[in-house]
Amino acid sequence: MKVLIARPMTAEIEVRARRDFDVEIRESNTPLTVSEMTHALQTFDIVVPTLGDRFNADVFAAVAAPQCKLLANFGVGYNHIDVSAARDAGIQVTNTPGAVTDATADIAMTLILMSARRAGQGERLVRSGEWSGWHPTQMLGQHVTGKSVGIVGMGRIGQAIARRCHFGFGMDVCYVARSEKDLDFDATRAPDLTAMAGMVDILVVAVPGAPETYHLINADILQVMKPSAHLINIARGEIVEETALVQALETGGIAGAGLDVYEFEPAVPESLRSLDNVTLLPHLGTATAEVRTNMGHMALDNVSAFSKGLALPNPV
Ligand code: NAP
Repeated sequence: MKVLIARPMTAEIEVRARRDFDVEIRESNTPLTVSEMTHALQTFDIVVPTLGDRFNADVFAAVAAPQCKLLANFGVGYNHIDVSAARDAGIQVTNTPGAVTDATADIAMTLILMSARRAGQGERLVRSGEWSGWHPTQMLGQHVTGKSVGIVGMGRIGQAIARRCHFGFGMDVCYVARSEKDLDFDATRAPDLTAMAGMVDILVVAVPGAPETYHLINADILQVMKPSAHLINIARGEIVEETALVQALETGGIAGAGLDVYEFEPAVPESLRSLDNVTLLPHLGTATAEVRTNMGHMALDNVSAFSKGLALPNPV
């Protein structure tokens, strides 16, 4: 079976892939172009795509009888793949859940602390050579311990963030999700997102990107947040209406934001980059060598199962 891996991977994953499969590993770190995607669907039995590879309905429609029967996505988020169009084309889709959970929750905590404690701004101050020294009212931020956090999407990552907030920082946790969760720590399910946004000190976005979550955090939600509150997004950029966020940050509608993802990623508007009260990370959620290797193994486990005719471990 011919396999295409859409990006260079960690050494351990490339060694396994070359050992176990008839594989081509693309050398570029940029997303697949439309012609590369259609060519891949025509030529390879299995493709391992990732974030940015926009397998939308038009791409599947452009290939009459695809050779490819599996998209083994590298990553838990698969909103770049039109899964129902893939299914209609006879192509199954898998992802890499679980492998990403703790690392992404850690980045959420990084952003909570950086935003509330103005760490990015402080770091820029020291680097600038302009720091004039400690004084009692220098760069006062928001205390984190004991505050309230609202988790939007209490799934694997949402729960991992909630655990860190509850056990590590003594925070009151509330959440919205489609279903009630059976948790082994105190957390309250909020009546709805608007009510929760108005109550909490920190609002964390951890829902998948999907048509139903597009601009879930919009001007109306930002408007009900406390002026002292912080918004954290580690999920997908398009869940937050970026222009509304810029306005809320510029006008003091909210105190700050911590972002790992962007609406038009990798483009980050100057209006956002010029603000001091926003912490901007370059989509670092899963960016550790061991996590990327674990994700790679999970993707290859799906490739392996498919090539042996076994049940797929992680179908979506
Ligand atoms: P998950 O386990 O599927 O959890 C998603 C949660 O969102 C579930 O609790 C689900 O509710 C809830 N949800 C879905 N649609 C909703 C809606 N319309 N309104 C309210 N809640 C909704 O997914 P996960 O593993 O935690 O990952 C979440 C997302 O994080 C991924 O899809 C990915 O896009 C993103 N991510 C980002 C990074 C990064 O590098 N920054 C890394 C990994 C993942 P139910 O449980 O009731 O169904």
